[in-house]
Amino acid sequence: MNNPVTYMEMVREAAAVLSEAGIPDASLDARLLLEHVTGWNNARFFLHQSDPVPEEERLTYCDLIRRRADRIPLQHLTGEAWFMGLPFTVDERVLIPRQDTETLVELVLEWQKDDGRSDLRLLDLCTGSGCIAISLAKLGQFSQVTALDLSEEALTVAKINRQRNSLTENSLRLLQSDLFESIPGETFDVITANPPYITSQEVNTLMPEVRDHDPRMALDGGSDGLDFYRRLAEESPAHLSPNGTIFWEIGWDQGEAVTKLLHDTHFQDIKIHKDNNGNNRVVTAQWR
Ligand code: GLN
Repeated sequence: MNNPVTYMEMVREAAAVLSEAGIPDASLDARLLLEHVTGWNNARFFLHQSDPVPEEERLTYCDLIRRRADRIPLQHLTGEAWFMGLPFTVDERVLIPRQDTETLVELVLEWQKDDGRSDLRLLDLCTGSGCIAISLAKLGQFSQVTALDLSEEALTVAKINRQRNSLTENSLRLLQSDLFESIPGETFDVITANPPYITSQEVNTLMPEVRDHDPRMALDGGSDGLDFYRRLAEESPAHLSPNGTIFWEIGWDQGEAVTKLLHDTHFQDIKIHKDNNGNNRVVTAQWR
């Protein structure tokens, strides 16, 4: 980058650099990184857009733009992601929360409103950053929320997020566990999960931000992407109370295959729900 004079010029040039590097939302990312550096909201930016940029701030910003152009995810540069209106700390140890996953959380909240009970116990598997469990513990009415992950590193981040969102160890239990391994004999009214579901082959074709920066173990669902659904369908019934309900995220093309798996293991009322982009994204079903 040349030596831009004003904030406006600097952001414009940064957007061009990002666009050149193939970043999908180049202008937005340029603005969000400036927000990160200056702490300004939109209104303050407009107020100051013609001001000269102090040299130190310019260098910090240019460094971030350079790293973003190298396809480091925006959320890793700012260190945070927003999910269901709540802030989450994120880094290479966890999958960055996706907006599509909010569909799952909204379905659980709607279902709970219809159900009317507030003494329900919820289990979230493959919790990662904790975004599903934490937003449901904050926005729902559960008597107990438990979240598990195989990755100790992910749990460290989930614990940071539990504290960041003012939840206690009592309101959200976080445990290291290979699926249900650490909670033998425990049953739940709701089991949520966003397991790895990309096929091993496809992982290599994902955009660099995902392929090179999200943990591979959070993405790779085996040769057909269905490894975790097979285990979940088989192991969940022992951990569901009568009429217990599952809410699992799925890939856009996995509705039929996951429906069949759940049907074969005798789940009932199996439904596939779409995300806001119109893609199949969540499966729900009930245990007898
Ligand atoms: N939805 C994520 C993606 O598109 C994948 C998440 C997952 O495998 N659970 O990268």
